[in-house]
Amino acid sequence: MGRGGRGSIPLRGVAMGARSTVASNQIFALVDVNNFYVSCERVFNPRLQHQPVVVLSNNDGCAVARSEQVKTLGIKMGTPWFQLKDLAEKHNIIALSSNYTLYGDMSDRVMTILRGYSPNVETYSIDESFLSLNGLGNLWPTATDMGQCIRYRVRKWTGLPVCVGIGPSKTLAKLANHIAKTHPEMEGVCDLVSMPSARLNAHLSAIEVREVWGVGRRIGAHLHAAGIKTAQALRDVSPVWLRAKFGVVMERTGNELRGTSCLALEEVVAHRKQIVSSRSFGQLVHTLPELGESVTSYMTSAAEKLRRQRSMCEAVQVFIETNPFREQDPQYSNSITVPLPNPSCDTRLLVRAALFGLKKIYRPGFAYKKAGVMLIGLGEAAVSQGSLLVQHGAGEKSERLMEAMDALNRRYGRNTVAIASAGTTRAWGMRRECMSPCYTTNWSDVPVAQAR
Ligand SMILES: [Mg+2]
Repeated sequence: MGRGGRGSIPLRGVAMGARSTVASNQIFALVDVNNFYVSCERVFNPRLQHQPVVVLSNNDGCAVARSEQVKTLGIKMGTPWFQLKDLAEKHNIIALSSNYTLYGDMSDRVMTILRGYSPNVETYSIDESFLSLNGLGNLWPTATDMGQCIRYRVRKWTGLPVCVGIGPSKTLAKLANHIAKTHPEMEGVCDLVSMPSARLNAHLSAIEVREVWGVGRRIGAHLHAAGIKTAQALRDVSPVWLRAKFGVVMERTGNELRGTSCLALEEVVAHRKQIVSSRSFGQLVHTLPELGESVTSYMTSAAEKLRRQRSMCEAVQVFIETNPFREQDPQYSNSITVPLPNPSCDTRLLVRAALFGLKKIYRPGFAYKKAGVMLIGLGEAAVSQGSLLVQHGAGEKSERLMEAMDALNRRYGRNTVAIASAGTTRAWGMRRECMSPCYTTNWSDVPVAQAR
């Protein structure tokens, strides 16, 4: 894949992290994996290929991903699993627990492939990326050819099906992707840049205005009330009226629909201002040691995120709560913030602070449903100043220990090295009754092929 040759062409409006002013001649591609979680499961379990499949949220709560067959049955996103059981039996729907380790790794693989097609890629969500195609036009006979090549390579290298939408603005690239998905004859690629305007109008007039990126349900209802029911109608309405009625964000959407790019590629993900790690338990938890194990484990992953963005935090907050829906149970919830003696990203110190806080707020005699931690006062990890005071959980020794711990866990898998108070049994762990193996991230889960 050649990228060179035309490197001197300025990529207008794709400055790092900046929102551009109106720029012309932009081309964006939106690459989106079809039914991402279900598709990941199907890669490693071909028996699921033509079956109706749903993936359930944490603790097997509700449907967060659906195969086409399930969508056809009219099952909505977010339907609780217990409401689906009868239907599932009737239609042989297979339900799987969400395997975020697998999905995260498959997502990384797709993003790595996409970076081979453009030097400017914005990862928009776990299964969607925007690519800037500015200045790359002469590498391909047509943009559709490039789209087909992306589809072929992602399928060949990861097993995942993707659709590619191409447009002169991000909003139109999104719509193009939607058109590609809903028109099988396009074979997964739709290029609105080169589409004749009569055909473009026909497509836009058939798309519900709520499908337009950034419109959503509430504004969609207002637009409907004003008689604007399709993407085409939204494109053709006066920008002055749009601005007066809905503000600058909708005015910008109108401009984007007319092919004027207002939203630049955002390649640099802004640093998080706070990091939260919390989860509901798979079963109710009563004792302090069990709560301590879960808090240690949540803090471990929060601290890893903190170090990944090269930050330190100044305080940690811990919270615990009972299940408000179990009205028969006595209720209690509380949280506490524990300031640190100095900013730190050392898992040991953060865990110690969190457990100290937990001990203060824990009350016996309650059935706890959820616990979590939040890191507060995030700032850049500064080179440690020579201080007369002992720096707890900072300084060179701590830094090197944490680096070694992260490296071991990256190489040999999560929790290879962990803080002892996280425990080893994890009775409080999530309920995931039908989770697939971590095919791509755990040696013992690698699929075995048998040749005869
Ligand atoms: Mg998708």
